[in-house]
Amino acid sequence: METQIRKLDYAAIDMDIIEKAGRILKEGGLVAFPTETVYGLGGNALNPASSEKIYAAKGRPSDNPLIVHISEKDDVYQIAEQVSERAKQLMEAFWPGPLTLIFSKKALVPDKTTGGLSTVAVRMPSDKIARALIRASGGFVAAPSANASGRPSTTTAAHVAEDLSGRIEMILDGGQAVIGLESTIVDVSEEQPVILRPGVITRAMMESVIGPVEIDRAVIAPDSHVKPKAPGMKYRHYAPKASLTIVEGETKDVIEAVNRLSAEAAAEGKRVGIMATDETAGCYGMGLVRSLGARSREEEISMHLFEVLRSFDETDVDCIYSESFGDAAIGQAIMNRLLKAAGHRVIEV
Ligand code: AMP
Ligand code: MG
Repeated sequence: METQIRKLDYAAIDMDIIEKAGRILKEGGLVAFPTETVYGLGGNALNPASSEKIYAAKGRPSDNPLIVHISEKDDVYQIAEQVSERAKQLMEAFWPGPLTLIFSKKALVPDKTTGGLSTVAVRMPSDKIARALIRASGGFVAAPSANASGRPSTTTAAHVAEDLSGRIEMILDGGQAVIGLESTIVDVSEEQPVILRPGVITRAMMESVIGPVEIDRAVIAPDSHVKPKAPGMKYRHYAPKASLTIVEGETKDVIEAVNRLSAEAAAEGKRVGIMATDETAGCYGMGLVRSLGARSREEEISMHLFEVLRSFDETDVDCIYSESFGDAAIGQAIMNRLLKAAGHRVIEV
């Protein structure tokens, strides 16, 4: 199949293109679209055949449930069995936006969409193109990140085309996703809200609205052996082709260690990539150095993380060393993705 790519301008969204994309979804086809977090690979969430197509296009294991995207808050009541008071408070505070909530599901949602689970993940994005598309498609769009399974999520239409061209009907191009990391996922299907995946909506932000929120142990576990409650979090993910190692410690020690490790790798004939920050990029004596942005502005790091991971795949580096980030605010979400990309390979210095 030939994948059509259509560029859209946020200042004047071409509704003819949106209508066309909406029709593709209604008819059971797939459309990738921008959101404020990362690009999504959309299909009709209420059509099991569409969900099957999503799994096939991504090469995603079918026990890994999809997030259902809605364009109006009240639509949640059509697919969620019980919406607790705390869930409502979170929806009021953070929807539309990068927060996914897990509810027990109504029968309307096919098992194929939820990977056989009795719960459903729901998000209302703030992105205007995403919301217009959801509306045009009938209101319920299942959309995992628009990348081939295992590869870093996509933050531009070009990245989507790289992974999914020829496998889906259309890609809507809305430029670069501004957040760059997937949504925070919180399970509100039981009494105690639990974070299953960290994102830019942080624990502290939610606790200021609803009181104590727990974090699934797998999110902060130092190794990959604790079984996560979000099925997708158990898979190796975001991985670049070269082996990635995170070097953790005081900045000056990290620079020294990365320079030493790079020299050792080069002596073995390996080509080295380095994931640095604007503040440190000039401190590395060798290797292909890419900056994630200013360390002092975490939102720059999150915006560029997947793009930089992907960019190394276009080069012939054999191994990559990355600086690490603190776990305050968005740092926890950044480290969660980076640790997965590195298969939890960390060197402490
Ligand atoms: P992605 O769409 O690529 O951002 O991945 C969606 C993430 O949401 C995966 O990690 C899923 O395992 C998780 N997820 C979706 N639905 C549920 C659910 N009902 N319960 C727990 N986790 C879910
Ligand atoms: Mg994903």
